[in-house]
Amino acid sequence: MNFIQQKKIPNITPQLFPCINNKNVQTIPIKKFEWARDKNCNLNAQNYTDNYGGKLQLGWRYSSLGNVLLRIVAHCVIKDDDGKLFCVTPSENDYEKTINFIPDDSIIEYNGRLPSYTIPIINNTLIAEWAKLECLHSEVRMKYSSRQSLSDNTSSVKLTDEDSLKMTFIHKRFHELIQKVELLALNSYQPNDLCHCASGLKFKKCCK
Ligand SMILES: [Zn+2]
Repeated sequence: MNFIQQKKIPNITPQLFPCINNKNVQTIPIKKFEWARDKNCNLNAQNYTDNYGGKLQLGWRYSSLGNVLLRIVAHCVIKDDDGKLFCVTPSENDYEKTINFIPDDSIIEYNGRLPSYTIPIINNTLIAEWAKLECLHSEVRMKYSSRQSLSDNTSSVKLTDEDSLKMTFIHKRFHELIQKVELLALNSYQPNDLCHCASGLKFKKCCK
């Protein structure tokens, strides 16, 4: 089950995330860039501008898990000399050729990492806990440089004892909650939403 970029932003109150405002959203193309490395939008964008010009533009992209969780991730794209925006980082979902992007110059980068938030869209204690865990996970990640990988055990990153305990707890809770969260998400899909399997098809024509 994946976070999918839906055509419509789910209804969230502006208090939850002030910069999310339908009026600011731009749909911008993903441009093929041979040196792009998956996920590392900072590095990709920097590499691109070093070689072909243009300026870096920070902003937010969002995706949702059904109609239960919204994920908002800071993202770095390119602004060309005409002011047009485009992304040079391949999407995790192959069929996506564009991203929904909200420019925001106030985003701050730490250790080469960009912030991300997960926000509950429905009122449910499980979903609320999941969102909190994801935010906590992101907070810990932000403390360590993007050149280090936290995901594999062979990496040389040394988490502090406190952070290591935090991460162990977070992953344990993720493991305990995932099936229930997925069930809630599954039941929340509308027929015309893009399917959670990332096929690019509508839910009603795919895994329903
Ligand atoms: Zn499907």
